[in-house]
Amino acid sequence: MSRPNTSTDPVRRDDDVDASLRPISFDDFTGQRKIVENLKVFIAAARGRGESLDHVLLTGPPGLGKTTLSHIIAREMNAQIKITSGPVLEKPGDLAGLLTSLDENDILFIDEIHRLSPVVEEYLYSAMEDFRLDIMIDSGPAARSVQLSIPRFTLVGATTRQGLLTAPLRSRFGITNRLDYYDAADLAMVIRRSAALLGVPIHDDGTNELARRARGTPRIANRLLRRTRDFADVKGGGTITREVARMALEALDVDEFGLDEMDTRVILALIEKFNGGPVGISTLAVAVGEDAGTLEEVYEPFLIQQGFLQRTPRGRTATPLAYRHMGLSAPNSPTTLFSNDDV
Ligand code: ADP
Repeated sequence: MSRPNTSTDPVRRDDDVDASLRPISFDDFTGQRKIVENLKVFIAAARGRGESLDHVLLTGPPGLGKTTLSHIIAREMNAQIKITSGPVLEKPGDLAGLLTSLDENDILFIDEIHRLSPVVEEYLYSAMEDFRLDIMIDSGPAARSVQLSIPRFTLVGATTRQGLLTAPLRSRFGITNRLDYYDAADLAMVIRRSAALLGVPIHDDGTNELARRARGTPRIANRLLRRTRDFADVKGGGTITREVARMALEALDVDEFGLDEMDTRVILALIEKFNGGPVGISTLAVAVGEDAGTLEEVYEPFLIQQGFLQRTPRGRTATPLAYRHMGLSAPNSPTTLFSNDDV
């Protein structure tokens, strides 16, 4: 995401704790079973042939495990991983520096790959395809192009916004995976594992309460676990029970379904400003003050999965569940759709 990576950023500090909870092998990695099974096959095949793994694209909303998977891939390939992100690679020289520092079969992880500058992206094409870089040195009459060979590496690209990737870049990835939200059972496993690592006693009903309200996202599940631990330590005798979990979630303003502020804003806008829809995504985006693409690729999938929102050919509509969740009654009888003037 676009958050600056500074040590004073409290969210980043949380992420650092997250790093200590990060699964390091496929066995620790919960859920996303199909993706994991496929990756295991591709990795075993590449290793068997003594080749580098084909380039991997991981897409999906934030906090679902893209970075974690890339670390696991590196470990399974017995390779080093270098980590960077799209906006950090400003000039072709930045990319060249990284690529030439790699060893054979190493992994280069580029987060937010949709934010690469077009010129850097152009250089990446030949690096991915032919493992070489054509670098221009000098300028004016002395300018000349030098060809650099680079080791056969694996690019792992991650993005929350698949729709913003250019077609030439997308087509250069041999393995493409879209991570989906986790169900409550998988999140419960994530929470149990993290609680054990943190040494926090937690009851099953406490685990389930957190899992159900973590917005389908392991990063959020871990964050809720840490905050709930604080409540357990101060007010609950150190153990996370259902009561402690509920008290903590209430105090943290976490919605019954784990919806965040933007989710709620989208549902309320649909209902209150557009009569429940249908409304086009760009209009809805303006109404909630969010970029249409982010709405479509980051927020909407969860609301659809949870049954609050529907995508129809004429636009987005709020479901009866969305009305109920907001404590409103849905205009479900056709008579309420017409005013007296229409009749
Ligand atoms: P992304 O790169 O998609 O934003 P991360 O890989 O950084 O997400 O995951 C965020 C955190 O969530 C990780 O530090 C890890 O602790 C936890 N996590 C993610 N996926 C899983 C998983 N499948 N099993 C257990 N923990 C996970």
